[in-house]
Amino acid sequence: MTFNEELKDITTYEGGKPIELVVREFGIKSEDVIKLASNENPNGVSPKVVEVVKNSANLMSQYPDDSMYRLKDGLGKRFSVKSKNIIIGAGSDQVIEFAIRAKANKQKGILTAGITFAMYEIYAKQIGAKVFKTNSITHDLDEFYETYLKNKDEISIIFLCLPNNPLGESIPTKDVYAFLKKIDSDTLVVVDGAYNEYASFKDSKYVIDVQNLITTFSNLLYLGTFSKAYGLGGMRVGYGIADEGIIQTLYKLRPPFNITTLSLEAGVEALKDSEFVNSSISLNFKEMQKYENFSKVNKISFINSYTNFITLIFDEKFNSKEIANILLKKGIIVRDLTSYGLNAIRVTIGKPKQNDIFLEAFLEIIS
Ligand SMILES: *Cc1c(COP(=O)(O)O)cnc(C)c1O
Repeated sequence: MTFNEELKDITTYEGGKPIELVVREFGIKSEDVIKLASNENPNGVSPKVVEVVKNSANLMSQYPDDSMYRLKDGLGKRFSVKSKNIIIGAGSDQVIEFAIRAKANKQKGILTAGITFAMYEIYAKQIGAKVFKTNSITHDLDEFYETYLKNKDEISIIFLCLPNNPLGESIPTKDVYAFLKKIDSDTLVVVDGAYNEYASFKDSKYVIDVQNLITTFSNLLYLGTFSKAYGLGGMRVGYGIADEGIIQTLYKLRPPFNITTLSLEAGVEALKDSEFVNSSISLNFKEMQKYENFSKVNKISFINSYTNFITLIFDEKFNSKEIANILLKKGIIVRDLTSYGLNAIRVTIGKPKQNDIFLEAFLEIIS
């Protein structure tokens, strides 16, 4: 059968391997599998959210409140914006898709960093939009600007993934503002803040005042998610915040009831438990030091990370794919970055015990 031409050179998104796969393939007990592959919150989710979802279970026969009033209200208060500035997605992934379908097309492509979140490219290619990438693998805003200037007629969206997945680097907010000032008001700039809670905790220079950002730049769409710091990856809740005109347009692409009744309840409750989020993030950076120290001692390169993962880059001595496979057989799942053209692995920071087990197994492999 023939399918649309655009789909030909799309590589299917490869998510982190699920725990069940390791159980099935290697006969390891599920409680012994350590998954450090999908940037999930190793502390799980706030017990208050679990309670609310349990108590709401009987609501699953009902469609959710499609205005998503309470969730938008909570987000509105958190970011000092109005409900009309917010759109909710089934993960912020879905908002990325809306943005691309709203603005890109066969003539007008997107611009991203050399190595970044794979979904920008996948959604763009689905509609036949061209993908421009900077040569630098991490975000280099000078190069972004150069590439933008050179291809201005063919670029309709710029994606800044700050902090960047899968490399972990970020850019101070004042540099982002300086960059945005130079961009045409008809070019949509998406700031994907999936890990912003981590970056702003690590260093105040990376704090983003979303309200100020979207009022200063009417061409800006900020994305956030409940999947990472809030521990709700399995519930699929994300959001976009922008000028009302942008949000109204994205709404035209939204299917009705795009998140579930229980996801909605979970999101509303998760926003209230800032203590859970803050303690998760502070533990994350405390544990990350173990990885940094280990890497320094064992001369493994790593990228200074503003997220809940660390990317370890190998020289010719090691092969990331092999290392990931050996770890997998030991029941430890990490993300090999060979498909991004890198000899590197991305490791989500886990619980203290999980990190110790990983580092011990890793040391055994490299020595
Ligand atoms: C995880 C992630 C998202 C969104 O994830 P959802 O689960 O769809 O909300 C978006 N951007 C980046 C860079 C991510 O890492």
